[in-house]
Amino acid sequence: MRITVDRSRCEGHGLCEGAAPALLQADEGYAELLFEGEVPADQQAAAIRAVRVCPIAALRVT
Ligand code: SF4
Repeated sequence: MRITVDRSRCEGHGLCEGAAPALLQADEGYAELLFEGEVPADQQAAAIRAVRVCPIAALRVT
């Protein structure tokens, strides 16, 4: 699983950080990934929570 942030959509609400603090940090107006590559197995549920909580659908998991 990978997670991506569409910076053109992200408005920096920060809800994703609350849902997945080990994966995302909302900073300077948009979310930053805190890791590279595949989402660790123990963080995949958090990644899905982050996608669902984003109010403008700026996050995507593939
Ligand atoms: S919740 Fe969505 S809009 Fe807010 S910082 Fe995260 S990705 Fe950006």
